[in-house]
Amino acid sequence: MTPNSDSKISKAAPADSVAPPPVASSSRSSMPAVVKEYDFFGVVQDYLDDAARVARIEPFVTTILSQPKNEIIVNFPVKMDNGEIRLFKGYRVQHNNILGPFKGGMRYHPHVSLDDVKALAAMMTWKGALMRIPFGGGKGGIKFDPNAVSKHELQKITRRFTHALGSNIGPDYDIPAPDVGTNSQTMAYMMDTYSNMVGSYQKQSVKGVVTGKPVASGGTLGRTKATGQGAVFCLIEWAKDNNMKFEGSTIAVQGFGNVGSNLAVILSKLGVSTVAVGDHTGYLYNPEGFNAHKLQDYVAAHGSIAGYPGGKPITREEFFATKVDIFAPCALENQIKEGEARSLQCKVIVEGANGPTNPAGEKILLDRGIQILPDVLANSGGVTVSYYEWVQNKRSESWTEEEVEERLEKAMMRAYREVSDFARQRKVDLRIAAYSLALQRIEAVYKEREIFP
Ligand code: NAD
Repeated sequence: MTPNSDSKISKAAPADSVAPPPVASSSRSSMPAVVKEYDFFGVVQDYLDDAARVARIEPFVTTILSQPKNEIIVNFPVKMDNGEIRLFKGYRVQHNNILGPFKGGMRYHPHVSLDDVKALAAMMTWKGALMRIPFGGGKGGIKFDPNAVSKHELQKITRRFTHALGSNIGPDYDIPAPDVGTNSQTMAYMMDTYSNMVGSYQKQSVKGVVTGKPVASGGTLGRTKATGQGAVFCLIEWAKDNNMKFEGSTIAVQGFGNVGSNLAVILSKLGVSTVAVGDHTGYLYNPEGFNAHKLQDYVAAHGSIAGYPGGKPITREEFFATKVDIFAPCALENQIKEGEARSLQCKVIVEGANGPTNPAGEKILLDRGIQILPDVLANSGGVTVSYYEWVQNKRSESWTEEEVEERLEKAMMRAYREVSDFARQRKVDLRIAAYSLALQRIEAVYKEREIFP
């Protein structure tokens, strides 16, 4: 060991003090800041209260659901490639497990905070209930920029985080999945680390500790594209109700990662042209339409849309003002505020991301007659196919991609119909309808089981 190899403790950049991204001057790098003052958990809480009033939920149920069951914070050291020891802050919030194990993604992003993870965990509880799958809600993550570390460091951070969480996760207790900044590779490392923490005789039975794994490591066919695919099924149902033809229509997609790129690729097969895209590096416009497959391959190879030939750089403001039929926010929360809501020129917004529209923006959009397919419905294809993966792991089965897709289609169609019927009958918007249905299902179980002791 060299004298200063692993004894160098980094104080300069602790995990919880990562600087916000620089303010951009050019359109290429016009990265919208994630406003940290945004009270994401408070927003989700307000939706819960509104829906509870509409669905007349027993107050004791909303009281229980108003806070997560468990909020776990772990600080863990990792030895970086240069020998420096850096301390990372990781979170796992377990919102509710009355319907089944806690379930939800792991986010790696410089802005991960306890309150945001609480909001995202609560939304997972609603999604499980809405989709009628036996999962509760959880969410977690680490506050750091995964693009600023090496692949080797990323693996070590993931493994050390999994170890720090220990028995707080488990295939029948709390099941992580990919989210922003994580992917199937992250899940493979998590599963492998977890399986090395249990006794040898259990190794084979704990594959279901995470979902969204690579197929060869026990993942399911169709999981990578599941969230985008689910959003498309939801859009198809909406289009039937609203006489929208896909052939020849256009879309703008914010966030060209897992959700955004798969959504664009699947819609391109239905004749929808992606004319504007954006990610953390900037925004591009192409009135002829991007080749969504090629752009997806480019992002896989380069990490972002930056430098993609065939698109004209535009500002974030121009991006939001682009005239399209469908607008798909597939990046982060709090992106469509008042200004963006006034600029948007689209018929429908399909929320691939969680919480992309803030309440002020939502009010403007609804007043303008722009419909919103809300996150807890539109992006729940991810958790639904995660459930299919978990079932396959439990039964040691592998389903075909067609089987996964057929089941997902039925599940999304049914959820859309239930939500739109509720909205029409009770004269509420689709978000409140989705929350209301989820709450009713959770309430039914609490009423039957009551409270221990
Ligand atoms: P990802 O990491 O694969 O992609 C995120 C995308 O957002 C990237 O293109 C990134 O460049 C972009 N982005 C990040 N910061 C941005 C900013 N400030 N402005 C514009 N773009 C920015 O993540 P993902 O899995 O595609 O998740 C995207 C959203 O979808 C998140 O809100 C996530 O919670 C939600 N979601 C994901 C899944 C899933 O299965 N992965 C399921 C349900 C919901």
